Amino acid sequence: MKPIGLIGGMSWESTVSYYEAMNRLVRTRKGGLHSLPVYMASVDFAPYAHMQKEGDWNGIGRQLNQEALRLEKAGAEAIVLATNTMHAVADDIASGLSIPFLHIGDVAAKKISSQGLKTVGLLGTSFTMEQPFYHERLNANGIQTLIPSEEDRIFIHDAIFTELCMGVFKHETKARFLAIMDRLRQDGAEGIVLGCTEIPLLIKEGDTDMPLFNTPEIHAEEAVAFATADPF
Ligand code: GLU
Repeated sequence: MKPIGLIGGMSWESTVSYYEAMNRLVRTRKGGLHSLPVYMASVDFAPYAHMQKEGDWNGIGRQLNQEALRLEKAGAEAIVLATNTMHAVADDIASGLSIPFLHIGDVAAKKISSQGLKTVGLLGTSFTMEQPFYHERLNANGIQTLIPSEEDRIFIHDAIFTELCMGVFKHETKARFLAIMDRLRQDGAEGIVLGCTEIPLLIKEGDTDMPLFNTPEIHAEEAVAFATADPF
């Protein structure tokens, strides 16, 4: 198998789900004691979250690029960045790499298209919902995106940083997320992109009858497809 370079820690709560999913998928595929060769750079999230708040996206791009280059040097054959938001500077992070960067927006788009959906609701940090980078990636694949109202976006963003990234999962927060998803359905969403790697820790298959796109799981599938040279 080809080793994967995983950039995580943003937050570590969700990086755990990548590590678990990639190894579970390899076990399903290959059986026995097989597990995925992974080189991981798990960063201290606090200074990165601070740079986000300050709008220092160039600084984020530069520093995560160093992590990516280090992983390539260590022997990784593809880079997986375990956060949707930081894909805002995906080009900077991938700069100078001679191995593929598996973009989370592309793999989400591929999954949505494979299910024949044309319009999806996008939940994530304010950066992901409000900046163009994620929408553009889905739109380029013929998928329209809808986002919640400003009040709901503020609620989701705050819940991500003050609860989900801290390992806090509250019943009332989940109820509000589900109500927001229902409103997106009324607006025309045929499915919901859980476009923040912590949201699937709160919202599970079976909580709603809408199709859900669990971005860490889909991203992990792509990583394992690459590592085993065998698409799902
Ligand atoms: N993990 C989150 C995401 O997927 C948010 C943390 C971050 O800002 O990177 O967007």
